[in-house]
Amino acid sequence: MRPTVLLFDIDGTLLTTGHAGRRAMERTFARYGSADACSFRFDGLTDKQIARQALTTLGIEPTESAIMASLATYLELLEEEVQRTAAADYRLHDGVVEALRAARERELGIGLGTGNLVEGARIKLSRVGVYEEFAFGGFGSDAEDRTELLRHGAERGARHLGAPLADCRVVVIGDTPKDVSAARGIGAECIGVATGTYAVEALRECGATHVFPSLAAPGALAVLLGDDTGGRVRGA
Ligand SMILES: [Mg+2]
Repeated sequence: MRPTVLLFDIDGTLLTTGHAGRRAMERTFARYGSADACSFRFDGLTDKQIARQALTTLGIEPTESAIMASLATYLELLEEEVQRTAAADYRLHDGVVEALRAARERELGIGLGTGNLVEGARIKLSRVGVYEEFAFGGFGSDAEDRTELLRHGAERGARHLGAPLADCRVVVIGDTPKDVSAARGIGAECIGVATGTYAVEALRECGATHVFPSLAAPGALAVLLGDDTGGRVRGA
């Protein structure tokens, strides 16, 4: 079997945070004097892209240091917002636990491909106890551009597996057209899951290799694991 690197997006893909991330961003930029600097869609944007857009809206030059200063505040507020979100609103999506278990049994490389900074990923995933499942990742702290951060994740995944990247099957699992185009940008497969704000049809139209309503949908686990027949999926 080909060595396989899985790169999971976080928000909308692995979990729903009850908008904890959005509230933390809004509180961050409210401190700059405007409550509505973040009145745009966050889906698929990296943390640095969100900060850049908010600072620009505020008329502040989005230098690297200005972006990182705003995100330092964001991380402090994110910890608070994640902790205060009700358990009913903060949850892993259907099929995620089973997918991670099956991938672990097959010894696939389980990683993240997320626009969150590393620390933001840790905060969000720790609340639901799965942060330690991910051995590596490409993060918003690696690059502002999603394609570039996925490239970092894929390279780290190959190193983790001890295989040349060219020999690896790389699979991006995401919930937005931006995940799909970034996956295509590095020549990876993309499994689109309609657990965020985009429907199955929208993800299919933008060119995802496979699309499922969730990772719990029939066939999703088989595709993730690389079982074309689906007949060898343990626990299915
Ligand atoms: Mg997402």
